[in-house]
Amino acid sequence: MNGEKTREFRWSFSLRTHFESCRRHYFYHRFWDQDPENKWKLLEMRNISTLVMLRGSVVHEVIAESLRAVKVGNEVSAEQAADRVTAKMRKKMRESYYKMWHISNRPPGTRQSQFTNLLEHYYGFPDTEERAREHRDIAQSCVRNLLDSDMWREIAATNHSLWQTVDDKPFFFEIGKYKTCAKLDFAHCDNEPTIIDWKTGHAGAEDRLQLVFYSLCGEHTWGWEPTKTKLMAVYLYPKLEVQLFRPSREEVEEVTQLVMESCRQMLLLEPSGNELADINRFPLTQDIWNCRWCRFQGICEGAKRLADSVEAPYGVVEDASEAYPE
Ligand code: SF4
Repeated sequence: MNGEKTREFRWSFSLRTHFESCRRHYFYHRFWDQDPENKWKLLEMRNISTLVMLRGSVVHEVIAESLRAVKVGNEVSAEQAADRVTAKMRKKMRESYYKMWHISNRPPGTRQSQFTNLLEHYYGFPDTEERAREHRDIAQSCVRNLLDSDMWREIAATNHSLWQTVDDKPFFFEIGKYKTCAKLDFAHCDNEPTIIDWKTGHAGAEDRLQLVFYSLCGEHTWGWEPTKTKLMAVYLYPKLEVQLFRPSREEVEEVTQLVMESCRQMLLLEPSGNELADINRFPLTQDIWNCRWCRFQGICEGAKRLADSVEAPYGVVEDASEAYPE
């Protein structure tokens, strides 16, 4: 790495997930470019997603497109949205299968992050096409459940000029002295400030914390009082379920402290001056399940533990590039 370069720090919930699930994963994610020998391979791996992530991003894209259509007065049927899911999944699966992200395959002027690179293809998992069809079906159900719902009709009936954001555009703001970033799925202030998070998976323990963090984003971006902001986690599958709440003052303070403490822990591990980050300060996770789905398993010594594990139905690929089905 060029030691004179300043590495910007910006906290986000996903960065915290990397940090909490495996410090070594966080190391590879954040300091990928400090090792001249491996930095391009690490950049490649940093761009990897999974079928579950692909399903989530496609559903979010189709909902955002549908909201934009509604905003300009066009109706989108559930079937049209489901067809968009199919088309996007097919396109992204082909990108990944044909390695369109690779510099020798992608059009000039494009970046590899513009193309899908699936972990299941990269590491040669079996049954990927069959599993992709299952995820496509779930994704279609997600958009059908939403667009056929009363909730969708209520959203469409709100004043569109009061919609603040309809997709996952990043918002940057500071908590204390720390820079943070939040990507809000949908926010409007028709009747009352409202932030909605679309969920394609099961409810998680952190969902509520994440929404409270988003209320802080609403406060810093639009001046919304967090305790008066309606927060909604909308679970789209297997059926539409909504968790709605307004955070208490104590919750807002708890999340503020959580973010600042998380920033402090991460920054304690930052190298000073022109030094390189010390990999030994970023231990391997003890939870081998994380390794099975880790994008860095092709380079990380921790993944070798999968070879003796019942959690490793696919084994470990030593040279990721060679594992790709041509
Ligand atoms: S392979 Fe396992 S130990 Fe290594 S970075 Fe990934 S999750 Fe962490």
